[in-house]
Amino acid sequence: MRSHYCGDLNTSHLDQEVQLCGWVHRRRDHGGVIFLDLRDRNGLAQVVVDPDTEEAFATADRARNEYVLKISGRVRHRPEGTVNPNMPTGEIEVLAKQVEVLNTAETPPFQLDEHGKVGEDVRLKYRYVDLRRPEMAEKLRFRSRVTHQIRNYLEEQGFLDIETPILTRATPEGARDYLVPSRTHEGQFFALPQSPQLFKQLLMVSGFDRYYQIAKCFRDEDLRADRQPEFTQIDLEASFVDEENIMGVAEGMIRTIFKEAKDVDLGEFPRMPYSEAMNRYGSDKPDLRIPLELVDVNDLMENVDFKVFSGPASDPKGRVAALKVKGGAELSRKQIDEYTKFVGIYGARGLAWIKVNEKTKGLEGLQSPIVKFMEPIVDQLLERVGAEDGDIIFFGADKAKIVNEALGALRCKLGEDLDLYTREWAPLWVVDFPMFEEEDDGRLSALHHPFTAPLCSPEELKADPGKQLSRAYDMVLNGTELGGGSIRIHNQDMQEAVFDVLGISEAEQEEKFGFLLDALKFGAPPHGGLAFGLDRLMMLMTGAQSIREVIAFPKTQSAACVMTDAPGEVSKAQLKELNLRLRAKPQPEE
Ligand code: ASP
Repeated sequence: MRSHYCGDLNTSHLDQEVQLCGWVHRRRDHGGVIFLDLRDRNGLAQVVVDPDTEEAFATADRARNEYVLKISGRVRHRPEGTVNPNMPTGEIEVLAKQVEVLNTAETPPFQLDEHGKVGEDVRLKYRYVDLRRPEMAEKLRFRSRVTHQIRNYLEEQGFLDIETPILTRATPEGARDYLVPSRTHEGQFFALPQSPQLFKQLLMVSGFDRYYQIAKCFRDEDLRADRQPEFTQIDLEASFVDEENIMGVAEGMIRTIFKEAKDVDLGEFPRMPYSEAMNRYGSDKPDLRIPLELVDVNDLMENVDFKVFSGPASDPKGRVAALKVKGGAELSRKQIDEYTKFVGIYGARGLAWIKVNEKTKGLEGLQSPIVKFMEPIVDQLLERVGAEDGDIIFFGADKAKIVNEALGALRCKLGEDLDLYTREWAPLWVVDFPMFEEEDDGRLSALHHPFTAPLCSPEELKADPGKQLSRAYDMVLNGTELGGGSIRIHNQDMQEAVFDVLGISEAEQEEKFGFLLDALKFGAPPHGGLAFGLDRLMMLMTGAQSIREVIAFPKTQSAACVMTDAPGEVSKAQLKELNLRLRAKPQPEE
């Protein structure tokens, strides 16, 4: 039906006869001449309809926003003075000869250029209209371009695209599963995959050597942050490799797509051990665009006459850290109160601070509710954090976990609020993760997942599990974890040792992962891999404010689809077929 996309027209098409198909974005009646901005997925073109072309004019006169039209006409220069430099097609217009209404449209639920005035729920309910907006369409086209580049890159590197099942057993990423009842196996359930983890490892046992998949994954988590219950991973696995090989392929892939899609050269990614990231940035995904750092002051605070500091300073699990902000003495009391509230979200019970007004005046030159306690150590403190006049020093003192989370988050918030960013892109690898972390109840859990290889022997692992590091690696960009993976365990002894430490009984091992343990007996090669979150990557690359902006049909924060009204109730007959009976909903208490 069409010869060109509206958005592709330019002066190279001058004097050509073209056929365009699209939606009426805007219609203006200028004293007898009708202007239509016709829109398709590639953009807008201005169509001019003269009263001389009577039939076309009458049709254009009837057209309303979002009508679907076919236009035939000739491309010409816009008259002098009417060129629109802000529009890719702004130098030309199409003089219409024929206008055909392919379909009418009711008044849309919101004007496309006024989407900001309606809530996101309305945009999600009429997502097909929302996706007509050029900014939304551009994000999805960008996503398609990038996934194409990813496939090209991986295919060139010898990776094979192999699909893994969606109806499967519970997988080990540690979130809650989405379950699907089986009709043919009464009382039994499939789980939707949290990742293709076990299958990709089995593909290595099968000898495929290099696997990738752009895979849907499902995790039934409370959607605290900007997450989606179903999301997409770029999933990789390879055999006969070490960390260097996998990180090399993954880094090459990210560098390639940034170069090709954004003309950005990310350079070589620095590496940082987990312990250093926690110490300096309070986070295992540090945003290196922000020049602020946490500085340990435990040794200075051990003997000060201020329990809030001396307590955690002498507790082996405690930490007292300082965060100096250059020029921060200008922060108002109100701003400091807001930051105090902010760190409260992370469990901090307060936010001590010192403003450095005039360093040479000693204590006199400092302003702070806690300054009197600092007297014995003040010079050392100022020197340790490198404070200058006009700076503010914030403190965190508590269990190390709380201090890291609170000051780590404060560091990012200050970076944003005070616009401290030193560059646009800051990628890095975080390596040398601990194998396990201690839960609140004292039990150990796998920091990555239980198939990650430790950097030690099974005996060493059993002897002192809390101390051991793993062969895991995470890629971080601008404070966001883009992806992560590990070299896997490929022999049964080690796998059993890890399950042992995690307190997974033999019966449970057999029940949950028996097939993997079996596979390890039949010639499993050394292997490893990684997965990237595609949605988050797209969000960063397009500068979108939310992950929902880069997914065509996302779920809401409460994990529902307001457009299709899913999840929904099912008929009694369907439940019966599945041998399921619903419990009566608990009545709200009087
Ligand atoms: N399966 C892991 C995840 O989804 C990634 C990996 O280890 O390859 O986080």
